[in-house]
This record gives sequence, C-alpha cells and structure tokens, in this order.
Amino acid sequence: MDWVIGVDIGGTKIEAALVDEQGAVQGLHRQATQADLGPSVVLDRLRASIQTVLDRAPGPVRAVGIGFAGQVDASTGVVYYAPNLPGWRDVPLKAELEGALGLPVFVLNDVHAAAWAERAYGAGQDWDDLVCVFVGTGVGGGVILGGRLQTGAGGSLGEVGHMPIVADGRACRCGGRGCLEAYVGGWAIAEQVQQDIRDHPAAWGDVGPLETFTAETLADLCHRGHPRAREWSARLSRYLGIGMVGVVNVLNPRGLILGGGVLQGFPEWLTVVAATIRELALPSAARIVEVRQAGLGRHGGLIGAAAWARLQTRSGLSRPT
Ligand SMILES: [Zn+2]
Repeated sequence: MDWVIGVDIGGTKIEAALVDEQGAVQGLHRQATQADLGPSVVLDRLRASIQTVLDRAPGPVRAVGIGFAGQVDASTGVVYYAPNLPGWRDVPLKAELEGALGLPVFVLNDVHAAAWAERAYGAGQDWDDLVCVFVGTGVGGGVILGGRLQTGAGGSLGEVGHMPIVADGRACRCGGRGCLEAYVGGWAIAEQVQQDIRDHPAAWGDVGPLETFTAETLADLCHRGHPRAREWSARLSRYLGIGMVGVVNVLNPRGLILGGGVLQGFPEWLTVVAATIRELALPSAARIVEVRQAGLGRHGGLIGAAAWARLQTRSGLSRPT
C-alpha cells in the first residue's frame, strides 16, 4: 500500500492527513492557518503540517495534494489570489513545497478538490458529467465533464454562487449584485432573516438573540413547525432551485450533487431543487439529470486533493484543460 497526503487549507485552518487508494483517511493533523500573519508564515505552517503527517506514515508516500481556498492554476500550482488569506498573490505553492519536501506536489482549488472527491469516492462515482454545489457560508461549485475536472481559463470555473439570479438584487460579498450566494449562502440567510425578525417581530415571537441567529437556527425553527421560518425555507430553497435550473441548462450534467453545511440543516431542499428543475429546466436537460446529496463529509476537500494528486502521478492524462 502506498499513501498520498491530502491537505485542505482555508482562511481558518489547515487539515492534512494520509489518504489511501480507497479514500480512507488516517493520521489527521489540524492547526490554525493564522492567515493574517502572511504567506511566509502560512507556508511554514503548511510545511510543518505535511511533515507531521509524513512522520506518521506507515509506508511510502507517493505525493501531496493540496486543496487551496483560492484561485489556483492547477497545471502550474501557482496561487493567484485567495480572498480569505491576505497577501497570497501569485505564490508558486507547488514549487515552494516540492523544494522543501522532495515529493511531487499538486495544488487545486479546495471546492474543485471536494467535487473531485465526490467523483472518486462519493455520490458521483457512476457519472462522468456532474456538477457539485456546496452551500455553506458561501456557495461554491465544481464541474466534471467527460470525466475531467474543469478549471477554466483562470482557475475559477464553477463559481455558481456568483451567478446572478436577480437583476440589481442584494449586494454580494464579491462586489456584485443579485448573486445566488447573496440569497442562499449562510451569511446571506442570517442577514435576510435577522432583518425580517426586526421588521416583523410579531410574526416570529421569541426566537432568542438576533445576533446569534444563523441558518442553523432557521433550520431548527423550521423543523419545529414555526410558520414564518417555514415560509423562509420555502423561499430560499426556491432561489437555490432557480439557480440550479441555470446550471443544468448550461452544462447538461448527468448528476447534480448538493452538499455543504446549510444543506445539512435543510436536506428537504434537495426535493425542492429537483422539482424546480423538472418544472423549469429545458426538457432535454431535466430529463437526464439526477439530484443527489453529497456522500462525503467535511474531509471531502483533502480526500479529493489526495485522489487528484494520485491520478496526476499515475497517468498525467487527466490534467485539467
Ligand atoms: Zn457574488
């Protein structure tokens, strides 16, 4: 048995682990990113995380795969930009780490990595054409067509969260307006519902302190039958469904996989999305697409990064185009 190290790095934490050929995780190491200290400190911490996991390996390690929360050129391993990691502009992450570790290193976007994990070991194993959409605090996506991960000309393909669904709609964190994420992203759900509670206190009753009201709070209320919370759930799931109609019409996938923290709270939204697609998508696209819940949990990113690195070392055939 040989191993690949998978790493998931975001604005708050670095997680690294050994991943075997079946996608099983072992020797997980986690630490804070300390992103505000800048790229050189983060690089040191990343290197230390990988070394810790290397020391735990029971056998030879073939490569390292890194899912990075930013815009990445997956063919060169250069990080162009990372919204949650200050100072990361044009950092040659692959070259830096290969020099330090003496192992092949492959870098891709963290959401692309999570999508690849679904294809390799999760809900999308029987599909060559699939789209994965993760609805958490933000909304991200990954697209696999013809069995190949699609990264686009600049590495940002699949940003379905920033697909506008309402002309001149709510302000989004990306600087745009009316984006899908500005309605169904965790931050946007909290913002909209908190405002509604302020505007219509009688319709809500006592729902606890406003500032700690999150998408999770909304899900709890909804599942306890709170009428106003249920109205919001219906409205938000409809927005998600409309967004997915656009995705399905443009990409004509065989599978649409939905995951992420918000959807863990609202698993019933999958049914709404499927029904909205049947109602509004082009018949040719609606007929063929199947909607499924993501099969992997929170380690999807590092599992996918490892699987992708393993594939690169083996064949070199499935480089993104
Ligand atoms: Zn946006």
